[in-house]
Amino acid sequence: MNYRDTTCPYCGVGCGVTAQVNGAQVIAVSGDSKHPANAGRLCVKGTALAETLGSGSRLLHPRLSGKKISWDASLSLVAEKLRQTRELHGPDSIGFYLSGQLLTEDYYVANKLMKGFLGSANVDTNSRLCMSSAVAGYKRAFGEDIVPVSYEDLEHCDLLVMVGSNAAWTHPVIYQRIVAAKKANPDKRVVVIDTRSTATCDVADLHLQLNPGSDAFLFGGLLNHLALEGFTDHDYIEHHTSGFEASLAASKQLDVTQVCAATGLDSQSLARFYDWFAQTKRTVTLYSQGVNQSASGTDQCNAIINCHLATGRLGQPGMGPFSITGQPNAMGGREVGGLANQLAAHMDFATEDVDRVRRFWNAKDMAHSPGLKAVDLFQAAAEGKIRFLWIMATNPAVSLPDSDTVRKALQRCDFVVVSDCTADTDTAALADLLLPAQGWGEKDGTVTNSERVISRQRQLVPPLGEARPDWWIITQVAHRLGLKSAFDFQQPADIFREHAALSGFENNGTRAFDIGGLQFLDNEGFEAMAPVRWPVTAGVRTEPLTDGRCFTPDKRARFIAVKPTLPQAAGLVLNTGRLRDQWHTMTRTGLVPRLAQHRDFFTLSLNPAEARSRGLQDGDLVRVSNKGGQVVGLLSFDDGLPRGQCFAPIHWSHQYTARGTVSELIAAITDPVSGQPQSKFANVTLQPVAVSCWGYIFSRHPLDLEGIDYWSRIPVKGGHVTLIAAAAQPSAVALRLQDSVQLSHGGRASYVDAQSGNIREICYSEGHIDQALFLAPDRNQLPQQQWISSLGKVDPDTPHALLSGLDPGGEQIGRLVCSCLEVGESQIARSIAAGADNLEALGQALQCGTQCGSCIPELKTLLNKHFSSRAA
Ligand code: SF4
Repeated sequence: MNYRDTTCPYCGVGCGVTAQVNGAQVIAVSGDSKHPANAGRLCVKGTALAETLGSGSRLLHPRLSGKKISWDASLSLVAEKLRQTRELHGPDSIGFYLSGQLLTEDYYVANKLMKGFLGSANVDTNSRLCMSSAVAGYKRAFGEDIVPVSYEDLEHCDLLVMVGSNAAWTHPVIYQRIVAAKKANPDKRVVVIDTRSTATCDVADLHLQLNPGSDAFLFGGLLNHLALEGFTDHDYIEHHTSGFEASLAASKQLDVTQVCAATGLDSQSLARFYDWFAQTKRTVTLYSQGVNQSASGTDQCNAIINCHLATGRLGQPGMGPFSITGQPNAMGGREVGGLANQLAAHMDFATEDVDRVRRFWNAKDMAHSPGLKAVDLFQAAAEGKIRFLWIMATNPAVSLPDSDTVRKALQRCDFVVVSDCTADTDTAALADLLLPAQGWGEKDGTVTNSERVISRQRQLVPPLGEARPDWWIITQVAHRLGLKSAFDFQQPADIFREHAALSGFENNGTRAFDIGGLQFLDNEGFEAMAPVRWPVTAGVRTEPLTDGRCFTPDKRARFIAVKPTLPQAAGLVLNTGRLRDQWHTMTRTGLVPRLAQHRDFFTLSLNPAEARSRGLQDGDLVRVSNKGGQVVGLLSFDDGLPRGQCFAPIHWSHQYTARGTVSELIAAITDPVSGQPQSKFANVTLQPVAVSCWGYIFSRHPLDLEGIDYWSRIPVKGGHVTLIAAAAQPSAVALRLQDSVQLSHGGRASYVDAQSGNIREICYSEGHIDQALFLAPDRNQLPQQQWISSLGKVDPDTPHALLSGLDPGGEQIGRLVCSCLEVGESQIARSIAAGADNLEALGQALQCGTQCGSCIPELKTLLNKHFSSRAA
């Protein structure tokens, strides 16, 4: 048994993880107490990492058109297709689409190959979808993509403004740090600015529930207020900035009346926020996808930064504008030029930058201008302009907007390569060649988190099947293109050293991103490297922006004149986002039974009053559609949503539900500066879907349920549970399912009640249940989901008794609230009824909320709910 330190592969917090490894198995994981991001904490996704490892969903061998081929043949084929495409159609007919899941070393070689040796910059990344507006905002303001705030500043500030961020669910460990800091300093204020009331509001002193897309009005009005009321820092503005007058002029008309009209806020709340901001020197504004994923995302970022520049709140402890990234290595991708409009090491396509990188790489065929950004890249492929596409570690068929065009693009390309660790993704299904990449626990290299801390991700166990590192796959292709000397890397440390050397090359303080001090790290040093925050220069280290010096030509920070605009709402507005226990398209978290129990099946949320005004009830089946497509899900009431809005989680793909790809509803509308899609806003309509049959299927393996109106599947111990709904009567559905739900060769027990329409069937063999089917015209006539989910563990001694759908033993726990300790809502309600009247008492009774803490806001809501119902 040994212990290895690594990092979590999910969100941009970048928590350190200590893994307990026994031979080729990760036995358990815990938070790394030495890591500066989390100091031992992990959220529920992090704690479940060991449960995601296994061969079940893995791509284990290279596959060409579904058939296994050798590595040698596949790498030669990729090289040949690249060469052919380039010769026939030119360098810009090739596209690479990368991912914030890649390690920095993977990212570095992919960019080097494309931008230095294939002569095109058509290499973009899925990070375009989550933080490219933040990058563009920083670059416009500071001349370079610099996050000038650390996690400690979130703790040290006196006012924390959280904009468009549900950190309690999306960055849970950061949220826990904020909660702890507020507990330690009750005078600290937190303002949450979000169109929804989310779990994050639990820590808020003030929640501003503004209209979607109106953030630039709010912050433009704040700039105006600061100037009018004399709260600007004249000295800072005069000595360290440019463009103040023009940006103020653009905000001049944004008085309280205008801002209230655009944002929908009341003047009192607005005045309170403006007053708190004006009066509090140590202010951090933390912003995330709610700001970035907008057609005016870059302007919204700059409207926030403008307020920090106007008050000189930058570059000192406890203050600054902080964009928190979604993915674990979005920041590493930014460092190596993972975005199509950047070169490596924070350089652009200015002539001197191109020349510098060309000389450093001794590049044969440098790209001289920016390439196509993600949405444009796939649009070009759909139009036949991109002929060869290589997608690494991402699932654009589900995650990119206008997924219909993405599918067409993949079908139209002459050759599509997908390197991934997962075999069955919606994107992999459309690829010509699948290359098995190593997954978390097998890969080795570095990542950079949201606060610029570079950490090691270490190999814990040997790779499964024939999986190989992404950097190795890319360099092997480069070798076959005759580029051995430029890609002569034997291990990740070789790549890291070159990356570090490039960052310091002819830098002399001209670029903030400089880790030149790490270029001479030997292999042992790389292996042992502790988390380190850049810059790491060969000489004296200066924290960027602390001296007021920026990386613009005149070294001044730039105010940006922002003219706010509102998205055009017509009817119901769709908002999209993440859930607490899932990650991306569920290729990893979707494997873990306990992570599926917090929110089990694909749902669409509405405010209860909005739903009732449409004659809808909680749990009804509804269709949300627009001209882009449609999704079908269970209606879920959410008091936190304003009327007129619908919320859909982004995680579901065709692997987990019939119609749940919400990106179908998102138009390919992008921010004109950053190219980031407007994923948080779409006009939609919502209709009820008539259902005559509801059902649950327990099965050992996922089933093909093509043709069933609605199905949604979760993993459970020993199998899968699928909820189905159909317009046909149960008898017709049972007939239809005969092909999909194969009967076992063992025993069979069934029950049909022609009068009620109930149909139940259990097939079993050798002491376990193979499949179970429960159909009824009314969902209330079905057993509870948790009971169905327990069938994998039940010994079917008395199969006929099981047909009753009664609990085979033990009390129902209800929907899972605390996923770490597997405590459900029914248990919590019973405990509250028995007298547990606060968090501590609940923790003592059930242990819920005592591990990662992600469920604490929900526990508080349940305490309120059950106490008010008891009082009533
Ligand atoms: Fe992983 Fe993010 Fe959770 Fe930390 S907060 S354990 S990085 S998912």
